[in-house]
Amino acid sequence: MHEYSIVMSLMDQCEALALQHNAKGIEQVELKIGILSGVEPALLAQAFDTFKLETVCNDAKLIMNIQPLVLQCRDCEQQTQVNERTIICPACGGNNTLVMDGEDMMLMQLILDT
Ligand SMILES: [Zn+2]
Repeated sequence: MHEYSIVMSLMDQCEALALQHNAKGIEQVELKIGILSGVEPALLAQAFDTFKLETVCNDAKLIMNIQPLVLQCRDCEQQTQVNERTIICPACGGNNTLVMDGEDMMLMQLILDT
């Protein structure tokens, strides 16, 4: 399951940041999860709860912000947010679009216990 490897690299990132800031632990981990990132939030939360016990994140709360897809249309120049996996511009129905956001997963914020 690829959520497990995502969580493992996330934990590494958290541990490195905690060490760097001399923190005792981590209180909260906030993630942005694009709907096209391929990450399943429920599986990610489950993997997080499993792995955190052994790490600096053992008391951390996980916040997941789901990022809708943001499409920029090259035909009608509208920028729209959609909650489904599509590349069709909702304004004009064309498919000449660019994906501006919603494809990646990233760490937004970490609250450290210092
Ligand atoms: Zn359009």
